[in-house]
Amino acid sequence: MGRVFVAGSINMDVVATADRHPKVGETVAGKAVHYFPGGKGANQAVAAAKLGAPSTLIGRLGVDAFGQQLRTFLAAQGVDLALVQDTADVHTGTAVITIADADNTIVVVPGANALVSAEDAAAPVLAKGDVAVSQFEIPQATISAFFQRARAAGATTILNPAPALACPPGLLELVDILILNETELGLLAQTALHDTDEPARFVEAARRLPTGPDTIICVTLGKRGVLALIGGEPSLIAGRAVKAVDTTGAGDCFVGALAAQLANGTAIRDALAYANAAASICVQRMGAAPSMPTAAEVAELLA
Ligand code: ADP
Repeated sequence: MGRVFVAGSINMDVVATADRHPKVGETVAGKAVHYFPGGKGANQAVAAAKLGAPSTLIGRLGVDAFGQQLRTFLAAQGVDLALVQDTADVHTGTAVITIADADNTIVVVPGANALVSAEDAAAPVLAKGDVAVSQFEIPQATISAFFQRARAAGATTILNPAPALACPPGLLELVDILILNETELGLLAQTALHDTDEPARFVEAARRLPTGPDTIICVTLGKRGVLALIGGEPSLIAGRAVKAVDTTGAGDCFVGALAAQLANGTAIRDALAYANAAASICVQRMGAAPSMPTAAEVAELLA
């Protein structure tokens, strides 16, 4: 079995709820505060680990209370933290979220995540059969260096270009499997897309991306499932009909589950169906990292 290496962000999400949002310059009394472990890198590493893949996270934390809490949480989920460095003079990545009137405001401060370097990404010893995963919450030069090394070692590279940001030239050519939602696809293909669009629109946009000739492109479409272009040919792998209560982390669950399956040697189409099933469990629970399913739960669903 291969190992999943995730180079990515680790955040503490601080969520305050209130009856209404304050106006600029105003203070309102809130109702509750919750602390949720987050960051796309951490979420995807947790998903892969809970689904049974050996999972190593490459990232950075500040030397502060959030850093300690996140380390404890991630270790308890089975994520290998040997390549997560504590970094002096910078705080742990933090998202400050306010929720009121069923709407949220979010300020994300990258902190230590912005310092994850090409040298950090050069630390893991990758081998054929391993899977290298990254997202756009760490510097893009770090991702390029990570994927170049992974490719040289014969590992599979997975990029989840989220949040939606422009991509440096050449990065998409280093990607074996690109996993993105309609917003991210629209930005990279420079076209306006909506989640209700016909699949043909997504296919047309995906074919315009400057990926390598063999890159598999997976467009996640929420409850509709995932549209995959394999060898340039599209197929829709339908999502599972469930009652969603919180879709936070669904994309991260999908990516982590797919990486875990590929590290296990599963063929791509079966791995995509598995990732749909895992993400359908995630959306039935609150939160991101804490809502990732176990291998036993997915096996029960697929039985
Ligand atoms: P993102 O959160 O990145 O926008 P999506 O909303 O496309 O990602 O969701 C990722 C995956 O999670 C989907 O491809 C699907 O497998 C699963 N999923 C998301 N929402 C639902 C839902 N309401 N019902 C069932 N599966 C869902």
